[in-house]
Amino acid sequence: MSDNSINLYDMSLPDIENLMNKWDEPAFRARQIYRHLYVHLGNDPNEMTDLPVALRERIAEKTHFGDLRVDRVLTGDHGMTRKALFAMQDNSPVESVLMIYPDRATVCISSQSGCPMQCTFCATGKLGHLHDLTPGQIVEQVLWAARELNNVRKQAKGEIPGAISNVVYMGMGEPFNNYDNWWASVERLHDPTGFNMGARNFTVSTVGLVPGILKLAEADLPVNLAVSLHSADDKLRSEMMPVNKRYPITELIDAARTYTEKTRRRLSFEYVLLKEKNDFPEQALQLAGLLRGNVTTGKTMLFHVNLIPWNPVPGTSLNRSDRKRVINFQKVLKEHGIPCTVRVERGTDIAAACGQLAGGDIAGIRDENSPD
Ligand code: SAH
Repeated sequence: MSDNSINLYDMSLPDIENLMNKWDEPAFRARQIYRHLYVHLGNDPNEMTDLPVALRERIAEKTHFGDLRVDRVLTGDHGMTRKALFAMQDNSPVESVLMIYPDRATVCISSQSGCPMQCTFCATGKLGHLHDLTPGQIVEQVLWAARELNNVRKQAKGEIPGAISNVVYMGMGEPFNNYDNWWASVERLHDPTGFNMGARNFTVSTVGLVPGILKLAEADLPVNLAVSLHSADDKLRSEMMPVNKRYPITELIDAARTYTEKTRRRLSFEYVLLKEKNDFPEQALQLAGLLRGNVTTGKTMLFHVNLIPWNPVPGTSLNRSDRKRVINFQKVLKEHGIPCTVRVERGTDIAAACGQLAGGDIAGIRDENSPD
């Protein structure tokens, strides 16, 4: 009976070596296959022409290249933002967004299908928690983006980066709620003999799961951390983000400080701006008070604040802060010495911006835009 149940992307190099051993193949075949997967971005055994035909056939018969089926690709920003809607075997949605800039290419990927965290302002939470993605299912989103980037480069006239330069775990799901699989994906993509992504080019965003932050503080790769703060007030934060009841602000800030002290890396606090909810000048002042003197070590400021004007999510009664309120909020922070930027937006027209990932119409939620 044919059984191709092995997802090659779920295998580390030692796993592939074990497989070769089981198949009575020499060990060096593993490295050849691994290079096809992560250096040449290959996903067709027929093209692995340095392998004997019999081995190619066995690979085709016994394994598969990834679990995610591309359902649709939506494009925006003149083709420079590309959102993939993937379907898992049971049709659960997974989304990734490739953002191409003249000097870099960033892919925003998902660590779960749906999300258990239930932040009131986020589209993904509305789906509930469908699946924890396996390391392979996380990694294959980046491989999709790398192939997509290659295709864009072939057709584009202007400058297009040669490779994916940044991977951000800010798509669907809470990475620290799927920590081990998430970390395995970082290690796989980082491997200098394979995909070779620099550790500093990864950013993970967490809703504020303190144990995950503390674990990352001890990790051996210097991955960037972003913490979703969104309010400096426990009552309001708990209302917006149920996780705050488990890990309130003081604990969260303590963990963030530990991370900066241990890693000497700057972290960013994300702050989604909701009109007349968390965007009053007094709230900016409260935020400045919370952060000042907290996450500083000596003279070095080891954090900055990233303000994100909220992207509309259907079925909520929330509103996006207008430009004036955003600028005002930023001004108060700056006046109090808080380094902060307003996030440049990509993909709002294809519901690919932060917190808008909800599976398009695979999940029964209609996408506002038809594919172009
Ligand atoms: N679970 C992780 C990653 C989620 S998405 C986390 O919570 O950090 C990345 C960022 O987008 C988070 O800061 C999240 O709070 C924010 N976000 C969620 N919904 C949003 C929306 N509708 N508009 C703008 N940002 C949103």
